[in-house]
Amino acid sequence: MQFKDLGLDNRLLKTLNHFDFKKPTTIQQQAIPVAIAGKDLLASSKTGSGKTLAFVLPMLHKSLKSKAFSAKDPRGLILAPTRELAKQVYGELRTMLGGLSYDATLIVGGENFNDQVKALRRYPKFIVATPGRLADHLEHRSLYLDGLETLVLDEADRMLDLGFAPELRRIHNAAKHRRRQTLMFSATLDHAEVNDIASEMQNEPKRIAVGVSNQEHKDITQKFYLCDHLDHKEAILLRVLEEAEYRQVIIFTATRDDTERLTAKLNELKLKAVALSGNLNQTQRNTIMSQFERAVFKILVTTDVASRGLDIANVTHVINFDMPKHTEEYVHRVGRTGRAGNKGDAVSLVGPKDWDSFKRVETYLQQDLAFSELEGLKGKFKGIKPRKPDMRNKNNDYRNKKAKTQAKKVAKKPAKRDKGFYQNVAVGDSVFIPKKKVAPKVDDE
Ligand code: ADP
Ligand code: MG
Repeated sequence: MQFKDLGLDNRLLKTLNHFDFKKPTTIQQQAIPVAIAGKDLLASSKTGSGKTLAFVLPMLHKSLKSKAFSAKDPRGLILAPTRELAKQVYGELRTMLGGLSYDATLIVGGENFNDQVKALRRYPKFIVATPGRLADHLEHRSLYLDGLETLVLDEADRMLDLGFAPELRRIHNAAKHRRRQTLMFSATLDHAEVNDIASEMQNEPKRIAVGVSNQEHKDITQKFYLCDHLDHKEAILLRVLEEAEYRQVIIFTATRDDTERLTAKLNELKLKAVALSGNLNQTQRNTIMSQFERAVFKILVTTDVASRGLDIANVTHVINFDMPKHTEEYVHRVGRTGRAGNKGDAVSLVGPKDWDSFKRVETYLQQDLAFSELEGLKGKFKGIKPRKPDMRNKNNDYRNKKAKTQAKKVAKKPAKRDKGFYQNVAVGDSVFIPKKKVAPKVDDE
């Protein structure tokens, strides 16, 4: 199948051809015709499979083929959870806008508010934004969304995890009319919370799932190492870096402080590393990302602020120095490599503090994850066995109670997840799920 078989406007086909996009990916083949037909969409496919164009192309196509609802309001709005991702999606949108007379703008937190107000006064047809700052502009009345035609939520589940539900609702309410189309995308859409917000914001959405979120990513080789303590982790990390033939690496740590500490350590060893975390100002964040993209630094040490969506060509390795708090972030973190058909390696270091998270990832992936060993760096930690209650003594004594709660804790199921999502959805199938009425829910974050 070719892009032209999807019924896209010729001007878009020309740009695709110019940038040498030859064939639509599976998600593009499935999502684009549905979106062009005007249906709401809840779509998932693995990391690096081309979801961005799967929503950018139909959004632009629709605008090229129809008259705007309003002269001043934006026609398309794309929301993303982080500033870096919004910026990247904006870049891809701008690429596809090449040659068209449409204007677009990027509205993210950390940038000058008044400059954004000025940009909005020029009535851009398309906006890419983070939800917090966009909601601020709605409140400030620097833009109206009554004429919005397409609303896209990229990494929809992450925006909910980050507590953006109130902002998403505000944006939805500002653009509430019958003809608005809403498209939601992520590699992991099996959150119950996604279902709730989808049934509020979407109208009889089509669900498209290309594969399932926990399906093994064939282009990513995963390795796991057991670690005793921080020094042991660092020793393993250094050995992995020494032995890997990497072009660029992203290392994920649990906290911002860890990123700083580890970066300093790597730089002492003359490994060119830079830290990106949410507490830096936007100019610093922009500089760091641009330096990493230009490979001025080979190693980026970061937190989950960079787990979603970022598409950096030379990232051959992802290292989880610490396992993620949210299970899905494992899939997204490792998905920073092995993109668009390239191969990648993912290495995870699992110490006692990471054990629960590791087990949740194992349950989520439905795989028995084996541990590798490095010569001379074998530790003592072998994982934590869930303690079974002592059945010989049925008295409910203190030790038994403790063991029972511990066993329960270890066996705890991953966070609420909508199991129904993938049931009976064969790879590549679309299913139609009727709209469910739900009362608005107060957000807990
Ligand atoms: P996802 O959002 O699914 O993680 P992206 O939209 O970021 O993936 O795309 C991943 C990479 O694949 C990008 O570099 C993008 O330019 C490239 N890409 C997208 N569509 C195609 C295609 N049809 N053919 C080749 N490369 C593509
Ligand atoms: Mg993406």
